[in-house]
Amino acid sequence: DGRLRAVRDRVRSFPDFPQPGVLFRDISPLLKDPVAFRTLIDLLEDHVRASFPKIDFVVGLDSRGFLIGTPLAQRLGIGFVPVRKKGKLPGATESISYSLEYGRAELEIQSDAVEAGQKVLIVDDLLATGGTMRAACELLKRLKAEVLGCLVIIELKALKGSEKLNSIPFYSLLQYD
Ligand code: IMP
Repeated sequence: DGRLRAVRDRVRSFPDFPQPGVLFRDISPLLKDPVAFRTLIDLLEDHVRASFPKIDFVVGLDSRGFLIGTPLAQRLGIGFVPVRKKGKLPGATESISYSLEYGRAELEIQSDAVEAGQKVLIVDDLLATGGTMRAACELLKRLKAEVLGCLVIIELKALKGSEKLNSIPFYSLLQYD
């Protein structure tokens, strides 16, 4: 698919960032190119429309998930809900602590962000170990939302992160070893 190639051509790789041994995938060129970025959102929209007939909200993960999630929600004609890193959201929040490769992190969502039974799709730029996405799924479940699926641009296959998501449908546009 030429559209997929146009997107893949605008992902760069940086060895040893943010620490030695890590090959960092950088989507900045994709964001900088309006044609490629539109193509990205076209491809994600096509997938979502074909796979999920009825979604209430797109949930995006801090912070690159916001860049993908908001235009996608607009295309779908639905609202966007942010999941943020600890301490950024006002009012009552639900929070979850989870382990990273080194140390721990915490994610939060506003308690009134979704109602029980509402259907959501969670989006981020990239799935590595899957810890972040799994924590976000758990947060949404605590609000009694129905997580229909998880969607990313890039999946780092070797880390087997999608296995952490159990039975929740997972989709990645681009896969790297
Ligand atoms: P995980 O929790 O190990 O799956 O890591 C995924 C989270 O870390 C996502 O929010 C990504 O934005 C970020 N991340 C991990 N590796 C990379 C990378 O190579 N490029 C960009 N973001 C990354």
